[in-house]
Amino acid sequence: MKRLSILGSTGSIGTQTLEIIKENPSEFVVEALAANSNIDLLEAQVREFKPRITAIRDETKYKELKKRIGGMTQLTAGLEGITDAAVAENCDTVVSAIVGIAGLVPTYNAIKAGKNIALANKETLVAAGRIITKEVKKNKVRMLPVDSEHSAIFQSIGSNSRNAISKIILTASGGPFRTKTMEELEAVTVQDALKHPNWSMGRKITIDSATLMNKGLEVIEARWLFDVMPEAIEVCVHPQSIVHSAVEFVDGTVIAQLGLPDMKIPIQYALTYPERLAMGGKKLSLTSIVELNFYKPDTEKFKCLRLAFRALEMGDSACVVLNGSNEEAVRLFLDGKISFLDIGNLIERTLDKHKIIKDLSIDDVADLDRWSRETLNNLYKVGCCS
Ligand code: NAD
Ligand code: MG
Repeated sequence: MKRLSILGSTGSIGTQTLEIIKENPSEFVVEALAANSNIDLLEAQVREFKPRITAIRDETKYKELKKRIGGMTQLTAGLEGITDAAVAENCDTVVSAIVGIAGLVPTYNAIKAGKNIALANKETLVAAGRIITKEVKKNKVRMLPVDSEHSAIFQSIGSNSRNAISKIILTASGGPFRTKTMEELEAVTVQDALKHPNWSMGRKITIDSATLMNKGLEVIEARWLFDVMPEAIEVCVHPQSIVHSAVEFVDGTVIAQLGLPDMKIPIQYALTYPERLAMGGKKLSLTSIVELNFYKPDTEKFKCLRLAFRALEMGDSACVVLNGSNEEAVRLFLDGKISFLDIGNLIERTLDKHKIIKDLSIDDVADLDRWSRETLNNLYKVGCCS
């Protein structure tokens, strides 16, 4: 039996993880749950899964939640509470599914406490890939990808050695605006951007998918997860989201992983590896696929993808700035304050202002994240958008 702590249990990944647990009650036990502020859903989850520890990030919600479920679980709050859930004594695997940089410190603490990680929170590796991968090695824990592309790459690599890999081919759906012109992109709304063609996900990653920043973040995630240089990572737009990614080997062989777009498959594999558990639902039928298309991404139109490669080339601290400024720009866009194209423009100007810092500590990452958000907000306030 695996004993799990689920950080971000009320989100898209968190709730799908709990569905898997519900379908396989003899495989998993929930040790801890942690979420930001949705106490109605968190209460229902506590009643159903009976975690030993429950954490609520928003401290103003603590009293009310305590009233509802106080006797059923050890309830904690704030960042400290989230950390309690991340390092819960009897838990062996932490599902890192908080959105954004908020997931970094809990994941870092979980690794230090010797927990295996099922990683959905890509921002952790974008902002602190070098620090995190070092801690994973030092603490001899396993970090497995939940992100569908990285799960595909992990499965395609299989037992091949690192030296046998010549290229990682990261597929991208292209998002809802793949075929739009630059002029059309100027006019898209928040509602348009929230309509992803193939996946149903949280709001932040859905906007990231529309700008292709999600693919940029995934390039950085792949760089750290698989120890490959950016030059060996190729992004390929594949609108059907059937080929979830592929690996090219030195002898010219390409191995890919295919499946219907369903996040429960990579989530479950990260929890059961090296075993596979049966899963219900529709299966991929190759003969019913009408066509599979692959294109080069347009990085003029989707500048965010280009900026991610630029940040990788600049150095680790630039990736912190890319991530922090992106989170802030996405927030401004969702609040209706900036246009879709301003997201990339503001991130670019924030990166322009950054001077590389070497040998980052986890505290430096937090400081730099703050700087990026402030800088982006200042640029916005002085009207430095388009
Ligand atoms: P979501 O917005 O649906 O859920 C986020 C979860 O994090 C919620 O439970 C929320 O309560 C919690 N949370 C937010 N801020 C928090 C804080 N400060 N402290 C504690 N908890 C906090 O997001 P999601 O779509 O589930 O994505 C989660 C992560 O997984 C992201 O990093 C995303 O990039 C990654 N991911 C998601 C998908 C997907 O299909 N949704 C696919 C691949 C990767
Ligand atoms: Mg992905």
